[in-house]
Amino acid sequence: MASSEGLSLQGDLINAPSAALATSSLAQGLLRAVSADNVNPLALTQVQAIGACFQSNGDWAARAPDLLTRTPSARLNRLSAWIGWSKDDAPSFMSQTAGGRTASLLCLALGNLYAKERCGMILFDLSRDVLPAETQNSGLNQLGDVCMCLQNKLACLGFGNHLAAQLTHLRECFFESGQEYPRDLADTPTEEVMHAFLMGVRNALREENLSLYFSGSQCAGTLIALVLAICPEDVRVEVNGEMIMRGRRDTIVFSVTNEQDTTSRFSVEQSLRPNTRDFSRKYIIEGRHELNRQLSFSWDGFLSDQLDVAFAMHGLRPDNLLKPALATLVASAVITFSDQDWLGERVTGIYVIHFHEWILDLVRQWSHDILSDDERPPRICTSSGSSTVYAKTLEFPEIQNPWSIEYNLVDGRLRYGSDNYGFIICASVEKGSAKKLTRKKASKSVLPKGHPISASKIGEHSSLLMTLRPAFVEGQQALILRCIVTQSTSTVELNFRELHCGLMQLAPANSCEHDLASPLSVSSGALIKATSVIAPVAGGKDAIGITLTQRNGEAQFLCCTMSVRQLYQGDCCISCAVTQAKEMGYLAIIGGSPSTYLLDLGPNLNDQEQSSGTA
Ligand SMILES: [Zn+2]
Ligand SMILES: [Zn+2]
Repeated sequence: MASSEGLSLQGDLINAPSAALATSSLAQGLLRAVSADNVNPLALTQVQAIGACFQSNGDWAARAPDLLTRTPSARLNRLSAWIGWSKDDAPSFMSQTAGGRTASLLCLALGNLYAKERCGMILFDLSRDVLPAETQNSGLNQLGDVCMCLQNKLACLGFGNHLAAQLTHLRECFFESGQEYPRDLADTPTEEVMHAFLMGVRNALREENLSLYFSGSQCAGTLIALVLAICPEDVRVEVNGEMIMRGRRDTIVFSVTNEQDTTSRFSVEQSLRPNTRDFSRKYIIEGRHELNRQLSFSWDGFLSDQLDVAFAMHGLRPDNLLKPALATLVASAVITFSDQDWLGERVTGIYVIHFHEWILDLVRQWSHDILSDDERPPRICTSSGSSTVYAKTLEFPEIQNPWSIEYNLVDGRLRYGSDNYGFIICASVEKGSAKKLTRKKASKSVLPKGHPISASKIGEHSSLLMTLRPAFVEGQQALILRCIVTQSTSTVELNFRELHCGLMQLAPANSCEHDLASPLSVSSGALIKATSVIAPVAGGKDAIGITLTQRNGEAQFLCCTMSVRQLYQGDCCISCAVTQAKEMGYLAIIGGSPSTYLLDLGPNLNDQEQSSGTA
């Protein structure tokens, strides 16, 4: 790479006797200094202004000021004419401001990846998008000169070595997981892609609730090296679901995978903070008051008509209790039922999905062509010009009360930025994208072999990231909800509707009289496995997974799935829950019960008696 040559040159210059260089007593203003560097002063300030739109942090950002001021940047052919240490030369001018330092790191990366003209083009395009018109004074060549000048100055940081190290790291990760590494990791993006990516980085860095999400493999190594050079504290990197790097913030998230279709995608997404009412506050825009009142008055009649249509469409026979219960849905609907209620006709999850989908259909249907549920994208919220209905779990993704499922119907439109949207969907509609969001089954217990299973926090997640991004899907304006669950270094991306419908199917275990803290002893050959949010369902025929999520309602919700029938532990000890699961054919038990909160899950369980006494 170019940097090795640069490195030796810089080494020579650093070692030159400083007396020979420090002869200048001339006052060197910006103009004079930049003329020595052969760069245009206006271009220099323009590049500095681009840098000010980004942020830099980490090791290189800390070292940049020093390197920019101290290391001469003269090229070999001008070395003889060089007048000495120059405090005000172009790079040291850049070292004086945060924007200048960030711009220098950006130029270092670009200068290593592209020829001068192409660097100029990228900087020119960035200027057009991020700077006010009056500050865009320089042409491609002038910007390219600045880029190369700064790149030379920082060459001793060794961007080439850095890139090589990142690529090696990525390849090792694929190698360790026994997979072939994608051949396109080191591709250099076209100028257009680089421009779009940098715009995404800039937007994500600018606002706290925005993140840039990258998935795929093409160019991944190159782009990771680029952002790690500029702002490593804002970068998170996952390789096939294993987190290999994480800064302080999840501003730029890379999910590197080796799938057939490795075309990389990236988008800027808004994060949705769970359990904060963020969703209704930020994304539902109320209409005018009077209109709202009329709407809620006319709602009742509209609803019962819609219900008949929906029932007919899905070929369901509403039972007499269910329909009146739904018809009272005016401001918010609370529907109380459990797995048992569905057993009468069909046990499959499809039945639950129908129910969920037609509640959403009340406000807006996906399309007037009647598609089967498989063909429709998984929705979690629908919105018309005046009202919006959404599953309450979207705002509060947790099991508060497993015996009730809530939908909120509110007056107001679904809004993102300056546009109205009709839907929130939980996976894009491209073939297989919903399927990708399924979890693997747990191959082994999260506890050591033969270890008794007791109420614990071991299976909880360490973070939940939910984001929304706009998309135009099958002619509809939709927001796509991304839901990423992390536990330690493992991450999974989930289909939120699957979680919600899984909760709808969840059956609470019958309560028992035993101490809830009493552990279940497991013989080594038993088919009982302790599991976690990453893989709540145990692998192996007839194996039963018990999620160790007794204290955390959010983790319990994230364990919900429709793929198997699940039992909620509730006020039941683990042993009795397992017995019930075996009898009734449940393959997963979600560990959690309101009373467990009163137990001490720490290492000493001496005061159990007292705790259960207060319960
Ligand atoms: Zn249906
Ligand atoms: Zn019991």
